[in-house]
Amino acid sequence: MKIFNGENFFVYGGGVSGKSAARAIKKRGGKAYMRSDGADGFTAPPEKTYRAAIISPGIRHDHAVYDYCKSRGIATMGEVELGFRLAKCKTVGVTGTNGKTTTTRLIAAMIGGTACGNIGYPMTTAIEVERKALAVELSSFQLKDARISPDVAVITNIATDHIDWHGSAEDYYKCKCNIASEMSGTLVLGEDITIGALDSLSTSAKILRCSTTGAVDGAYIEDDYFKFMGERVCPVAYLRLPGRHNLKNALCAIAAAKSMGVQNVDILKAMSAAVPDSHRIEPVGSACGKKWIDDSKATNVSACLAAIDSISGKICLIVGGRDKDLDFDELFSALPESVTEIIAMGESAESIRKSADKLHFERPLYLVRCLSDAVQKAAECSADTVLLSPCCASFDEFKSYAERGERFKSEVIALRGKR
Ligand code: ADP
Repeated sequence: MKIFNGENFFVYGGGVSGKSAARAIKKRGGKAYMRSDGADGFTAPPEKTYRAAIISPGIRHDHAVYDYCKSRGIATMGEVELGFRLAKCKTVGVTGTNGKTTTTRLIAAMIGGTACGNIGYPMTTAIEVERKALAVELSSFQLKDARISPDVAVITNIATDHIDWHGSAEDYYKCKCNIASEMSGTLVLGEDITIGALDSLSTSAKILRCSTTGAVDGAYIEDDYFKFMGERVCPVAYLRLPGRHNLKNALCAIAAAKSMGVQNVDILKAMSAAVPDSHRIEPVGSACGKKWIDDSKATNVSACLAAIDSISGKICLIVGGRDKDLDFDELFSALPESVTEIIAMGESAESIRKSADKLHFERPLYLVRCLSDAVQKAAECSADTVLLSPCCASFDEFKSYAERGERFKSEVIALRGKR
């Protein structure tokens, strides 16, 4: 007999993860009724007895679908929660404000498993093909109210992000901490966790720490080696990913892998084979006498600061896009002297300018309408490098951060032809 043997499930949101959940349910003998918002908003499923509703992670918890389920006593869960319940292999859950994708991929390579989840490959699809181990990237949306129990959990770092969705920094922090609330394995905490962000952490997991500056109970860097609990794991030079932030991501991955018993040689192989994903501090080449770098994936202030930290010489910074109610004061209060000018584009340009004025930012700051205008303006700057690291979502002008990054690249290539 199959585990869902004729039971009904209500799947709300017909995107990639909703379709994947529906397939997983059907494969196990259940029936999946899928609905999405129509022109009038919420669309109810047929009146039936449902075992659970699987609701898309992008849907806020004040949406009518939650009221519907509550009023009928239907338990709600996300696609990843279903994935964790059905998985028959070891699982590592990875969350954090930044570095999730990079760390998830590193861990997958180290443990010889598959990277899935928020990375763009649904967990409920990955469980059908991977038998050994899964490294699952988890966003704060996916973790809201999720009851999951990974064997190992990683929080790479916690800063502020997605305040528009969560309503408050506290709710965002709470969702991040939720990764470990039901587990008893190992929780790896990265180096940069905002004070107060762990206030709601309640876990029976064993905690491992990470540090780039000295020995801790966990993974750390000492004498140019990555070490774990006193043992040399591999020389730091083997990591091919650039920037200090990637040392931090690597430490999280090492702590997770070592806690699962991975051999140092496999860790070393993964570190030396790792390459950055697109739109993450990605060099685009030279034009108009300067280097151009696409960091379109940096959609919050701390990611942008990490990118700036990884670049030497004078930087012209392009920021802006769809505002997520983030505090741009955090950018201007931490901006190093290497940023000699700023171009603020899109919907959030005005709020960025206000923060600059408030914090007496006296270097040149230009407001432009869109990315294309930003590139034209940057072409005239006297910096060594132009960095697109927007601190904002892309949706005011683009469908995704990837589309924004691709447009940036093509604009830069076009500049080469003109000048
Ligand atoms: P995520 O999946 O959390 O968005 P990524 O690994 O895709 O993270 O990296 C996105 C961007 O975040 C990078 O381009 C870089 O600017 C920044 N970043 C990556 N790792 C870190 C880190 N550990 N700390 C701060 N910023 C980081």
